[in-house]
Amino acid sequence: MLEVKNINTFYGEFQALFNVSLKVEEGSLFAIFGPNGHGKSTLLKTICGLIQPKSGVVTFNGEAITGHDTKDIVEMGITYIAEDRHLFPEMTVLENLKLGAYNVNARGDEKKNLGYVFELFPKLKLLRNKTALTLSGGEARMLAIGRGLMSNAKFLAVDEPSLGLAPNLRSEVFEKINEIKESGKSVLIVEQSTGKIADMADYIYLLEDGRIVHESASIDDITDENFKKVFLGIT
Ligand code: ADP
Ligand code: MG
Repeated sequence: MLEVKNINTFYGEFQALFNVSLKVEEGSLFAIFGPNGHGKSTLLKTICGLIQPKSGVVTFNGEAITGHDTKDIVEMGITYIAEDRHLFPEMTVLENLKLGAYNVNARGDEKKNLGYVFELFPKLKLLRNKTALTLSGGEARMLAIGRGLMSNAKFLAVDEPSLGLAPNLRSEVFEKINEIKESGKSVLIVEQSTGKIADMADYIYLLEDGRIVHESASIDDITDENFKKVFLGIT
């Protein structure tokens, strides 16, 4: 459904991504692992049109989306869930969620999508009239994901949803992401370390210094010693 072909992305003179190619199949959970600063966010932002690559192409259901406005890309059903979340702290949970449905394609489905978000995250329903400011780290993360779902996305690019969360909350967030996939959506997640999400993923890529250095269906297929050093901190 989504295909990235030979992407090269720069910040000025600095090259952050080198000939990156990958695929995400419909209705599946694909994961990219890479250490801090190795290009994970740059890759998701390039896919979602927030950054333009110098060369290469991203296609969604066979249509090239590179060069399109982010707005058009959202209308096509692609949503980026940022690692820094961009919630509106003074607005309520419900208001923040409704902001996720600003695009034309989502407006008619606001009720249905809100029902889905509240079913997936019952806690958000209880907290719907509280301001985002009052949420715990885990609740705020759920809200950011919920807001992404309000846009009617078919494809979600999720940037380090576990960042800064305690281990039990990380697991909870990963389980929710797996549930989102099971509801029929396609998900591309990036994380620094493997663990539970690697077991859930249908396919795995490793990103090192802006390059895909490995891909496989299972983490168990990776025997590379270098991988263990870079990605698991085992020496
Ligand atoms: P990750 O998400 O894996 O931590 P990033 O994609 O954020 O990595 O960053 C990849 C590289 O690009 C890093 O070297 C980072 O310093 C650089 N970079 C990221 N954003 C910018 C920017 N806005 N301007 C210049 N360099 C950037
Ligand atoms: Mg990042």
